Amino acid sequence: MERKGLLIVVSGFAGSGKGTLMKRLVEDYEGYALSVSMTTRDPRPGEVYGREYFFVSKEEFERKIETGGLIEYASYVENYYGTPRDYVEEQMAAGKDVVLEIEIQGALKVKKRFPDAVLIFVLPPGVEELYRRLKNRGTETEDVIRKRMSRAREEAGAIGEYDYIVINDEIDKSVRTLHGLIEAAHQTTGRNEEFIRGIRNDLEQLWKGEK
Ligand code: 5GP
Repeated sequence: MERKGLLIVVSGFAGSGKGTLMKRLVEDYEGYALSVSMTTRDPRPGEVYGREYFFVSKEEFERKIETGGLIEYASYVENYYGTPRDYVEEQMAAGKDVVLEIEIQGALKVKKRFPDAVLIFVLPPGVEELYRRLKNRGTETEDVIRKRMSRAREEAGAIGEYDYIVINDEIDKSVRTLHGLIEAAHQTTGRNEEFIRGIRNDLEQLWKGEK
């Protein structure tokens, strides 16, 4: 049976380790396509255009919004972030599960527009860990870290809108859990109505033929 690609939305507080988790998911398992977002924030050391993000100017970002080139966008700590449409559509048509690693406002927009999307929230084992990871990254100023922590406080209220959580305490385990959740999402009865209908029809035929 041909499998339809799902839209998988992953969010998590800054410092929850979700970036590493996403990288491992696409490395360890087949069938995933990781969407690369567009942003107006500056690249961090080691980040590459087209790999972590498409880094663009505010003007270029706004042009992309106007031409309908983004499936969602949001502003986060003074910058724009958005998901380019073309890649998502192409990969889903090819049967891939397309993973969007985006913040909450964007995630909720996606859910509204694509009700079949699966929303997963990655949580750190505890909040001390969160602060420590942000500090250890060493790429942000104290002010930006504070803003990101404050954003985490706001975001915590909306976790209930998500379908699943993954507690990211041990990376190997978390990757397996994440993949398992996505596999489970593929197997819901609601996403397999056509197959179930086929089985029902075939059973009917068989029953009639044998009577
Ligand atoms: P960072 O600057 O740490 O790379 O990302 C900041 C936040 O923006 C993270 O929560 C990340 O998930 C989110 N983000 C990244 N790309 C997108 C996007 O395309 N759309 C939205 N709405 N959020 C995004």
